[in-house]
Amino acid sequence: MMNKYVLIALSVFLLAFLVFLAKQRQDILLNSKIHPRKKMNTLSEHQQRKVFDSVKTTLAAMTDSGGRDTERDLFGNQGGYRTKLSKNNTTMLCPDCGGIVKKEAYMGGSVYFCDSCQEK
Ligand SMILES: [Zn+2]
Repeated sequence: MMNKYVLIALSVFLLAFLVFLAKQRQDILLNSKIHPRKKMNTLSEHQQRKVFDSVKTTLAAMTDSGGRDTERDLFGNQGGYRTKLSKNNTTMLCPDCGGIVKKEAYMGGSVYFCDSCQEK
């Protein structure tokens, strides 16, 4: 039987993982060509597969490059993954299609997306 400390530790880990995923979601969604305001329950099976594949390939690319270029590791080294969508490149065009990168308020934070190639 799990004691309450194991459950608390697992909960903290899950929360940290969700925060981690939330920070990577913009590139994950851009790579799967899904708009961040698209409701999960309206995704087709094909779109769900694209998001799932993008989670794996985008996180692997970030990990292989030592993290995102917007963050530093414990030793102060900047990550080598060139973030496609973040607050640092709102004035840039979409690296995939050349469309305009937009920023909108979302759940107390900001979300960045390409209005041209991400399906609503
Ligand atoms: Zn685009």
